[in-house]
Amino acid sequence: MSSNKFLKHEGPWSDANDPLMCSDTGGWRTKRPVVDKDNCIFCGFCAIYCPIQIMEMVENSHFSVDLRFCKGCGICAKECPKNAISMIAEGDFQK
Ligand code: SF4
Ligand code: SF4
Repeated sequence: MSSNKFLKHEGPWSDANDPLMCSDTGGWRTKRPVVDKDNCIFCGFCAIYCPIQIMEMVENSHFSVDLRFCKGCGICAKECPKNAISMIAEGDFQK
């Protein structure tokens, strides 16, 4: 079975024949990272530290999050040297 059936993104460290951590998140995430692209210096730390490697480059200027797979762990926000990532409660997007 190909892991690409489930995964659009696969980190190099998780290069296995079966899905590891990078599976569809579903509806249980409580917070989501939101990138302030004007404050992003495109250093890539968020992409490096994201455990499931789902930060995406946008127009070679900033990163965004693939929310299908994001677990809301907040590591990207913690590692961002510019505090350009905010963890926002999911409930705030349902109003
Ligand atoms: S860690 Fe912060 S500044 Fe660096 S690319 Fe990610 S969002 Fe931008
Ligand atoms: S919150 Fe966690 S899973 Fe989601 S993009 Fe940031 S580091 Fe990756």
